[in-house]
Amino acid sequence: MKFEVTIMGCSSAAPTKNRNLTAQVLNSDDQLFLIDCGEATQMQFIKYHIKYSRINRIFISHLHGDHYLGLVPLLFSYHLFGRTKSLHVYANAALEEIIHLQLKASDSALGYPLIFHPLAENKSEMLYDDDKLSIISFPLKHGVPTHGFVFRQTNAQLNLDTTKIKGLNLTHEQLQTLKQGSDVIAENGQLITYKSITLPQESPKIYAFCTDTAYSLSVVHFVKDADLLYHEATFMHHMLKSAEEKHHSTTLQAGEIAKRARVKRLLIGHYSARYDDLRPLLNETATVFPNVELAEEGKTFII
Ligand SMILES: [Zn+2]
Repeated sequence: MKFEVTIMGCSSAAPTKNRNLTAQVLNSDDQLFLIDCGEATQMQFIKYHIKYSRINRIFISHLHGDHYLGLVPLLFSYHLFGRTKSLHVYANAALEEIIHLQLKASDSALGYPLIFHPLAENKSEMLYDDDKLSIISFPLKHGVPTHGFVFRQTNAQLNLDTTKIKGLNLTHEQLQTLKQGSDVIAENGQLITYKSITLPQESPKIYAFCTDTAYSLSVVHFVKDADLLYHEATFMHHMLKSAEEKHHSTTLQAGEIAKRARVKRLLIGHYSARYDDLRPLLNETATVFPNVELAEEGKTFII
């Protein structure tokens, strides 16, 4: 089952010539989820061939402009393209008012249902749960209310081994029963056990998204054991004082969170515009947590 994240932008505060603002697309079994939507994210979708009409749920970490100013244009585009299916937005409550003010000012009404889910402040909550994926929010430590998100595969259903079901004449209902882990009796009276006909189950994967935040050990609990953790590393560690003043993290702090949370891989991003060459950030983080990679736009990371 596909579970991967594609980076649409990884710059902090303002775009640079090579880097756009924060936005990521998580693909979970061909369902697309958008995480943050910095300015011009739509252009990034086009540039990187993302089928963004398939996004049905959008998660906004906080209301600093570099994380959400691309959202309202996207909502308008969906309307122009004739979207009719519902779009769910999970964000700080104030965003709902911002969206409605912009619609009102242009005397517009969206042609599709926009379902707004205000995020609870200072606590973790379950945002979404189906038979493939659950999504929770958790609080981060920043200048304004900010949330991280954890996307966890649930893998409630098993996958059938198609080579083994041929010729058994099983009905659709029987196949569904097998996928749910129960045995069935075939037309000829033969017992078909689900174990004999389903593929070995992969362990469910976890993706944790963690930006923007000052160094905070309370994050460790929420991102524990993630297969892939995205954690901001806005500055090199010698700029610790700046990081603290701006409620951001440094390379070494991102590495420390990854290490304490025993995650499998770390992805850093949200780089300050002062860095042209990102390799020093990567190398410095690797001194604490070696299995680290750079988030760079257009890159897809299989989780
Ligand atoms: Zn930011």
